[in-house]
Amino acid sequence: MKKIPWQEHVLMIPGPTPVSPEALAAAGQPMMNHRSPEFKSMLEEIQKALKEIFQTKSEVAILSASGTGAMEASIVNVLSPGDKVLSCPVGVFGERYAKIAKAYGADVEILETPAGEGVDPEKLKNRLNQDGKGEIKAILITHNETSTAVENDLKALSEARGSHQAMMLVDSVSALGASELKMDAWKLDVVATASQKALMAPPGLGFVAMSERAWEASKKAKMPRFYFDLNQARDFQLKGQTPFTPALSVYYALQISLRLLLEEGLQDSFKRHKMMAKGVHRAIETMGLKLFAHPKHRSNTVTAIENPAGVDIKKLRENLRLHYGVVLAGGQGAFTDKIFRMGHMGYIGEKEILYGIASLGKALRELGFSARTDDAMKVLSEVFSEQAASPVA
Ligand SMILES: *Cc1c(COP(=O)(O)O)cnc(C)c1O
Repeated sequence: MKKIPWQEHVLMIPGPTPVSPEALAAAGQPMMNHRSPEFKSMLEEIQKALKEIFQTKSEVAILSASGTGAMEASIVNVLSPGDKVLSCPVGVFGERYAKIAKAYGADVEILETPAGEGVDPEKLKNRLNQDGKGEIKAILITHNETSTAVENDLKALSEARGSHQAMMLVDSVSALGASELKMDAWKLDVVATASQKALMAPPGLGFVAMSERAWEASKKAKMPRFYFDLNQARDFQLKGQTPFTPALSVYYALQISLRLLLEEGLQDSFKRHKMMAKGVHRAIETMGLKLFAHPKHRSNTVTAIENPAGVDIKKLRENLRLHYGVVLAGGQGAFTDKIFRMGHMGYIGEKEILYGIASLGKALRELGFSARTDDAMKVLSEVFSEQAASPVA
């Protein structure tokens, strides 16, 4: 069988995600002086778009870093060593958030959740109710846990705080732009995300927005920081600059990608992602496979599929990649040999999902698993005809 060159692959991993041809072309523009009127006007446009997407009035700090850098910034700017932090991991990225807090000397307590489920707001509420002295300074939440394909109910979790003063720190790297997040209305204190997932740009930029309360906290926060000092980032941004050399090529692409997202409209993007997720979930189950995430907590941007017995998943992913040009992700951490994942976020639509599911069904059959692909395709087209999940354009 002919091998498909990687440039023609349909990238269905949960990040980096496909980037539109327009944004890719923009990334190829010449370098500019990053302390010039041209950079300032690009930064202003990006800043305005980001505020709309975060649904906040606060300044969104832009960092030349991957999403983990934005997560690190979200912690070190508002906390001090020894602060008590309640971490609520539901997978690998939640565990990473806790590790960062620990690395900077926070006193981290873990609120456990069974694998495949989202954080229970009642459980969070009960734990906070026991904290009469208000020792817990911050709660760490992953909006969408990419490793288990679980989406948390961010609004309910934020409300579960009641009158408790703990700040809500959110990793929304694999959700913002694809799932609703109302930073101001939901009283989220720090929200971190990155360029290479639902925002449809290449990797290289991280974003962090902070509430007024969080900016206040940053004045007293003692965790060490230099490159990720958000007060410095904000001061420079308000002058139309960044403290250090920005990843210019990614800015060029991001400017185009954010235009694309806002032209589609945030609400329409949420609808498109819901529709794609619903289609994939129903098609996978119809095919005869099992979904890993609990039905109440399934992600809009990525699907985790339990490895079917008797199928060599490494071989399956390799065949899909080389012969069908469909790139899926394996499991991470403790889930390495349990699940594989299909990403469906960003610059992706009906066409890619139909092809991805059809290819998965065929490749499974080649490895001896009798996937009911025809039925799955039928279900998929039913879901899509309820509402066209057309590509972003
Ligand atoms: C992708 C991702 C990150 C960031 O990872 P980087 O490789 O540092 O960009 C963080 N959290 C979640 C939930 C993610 O999906």
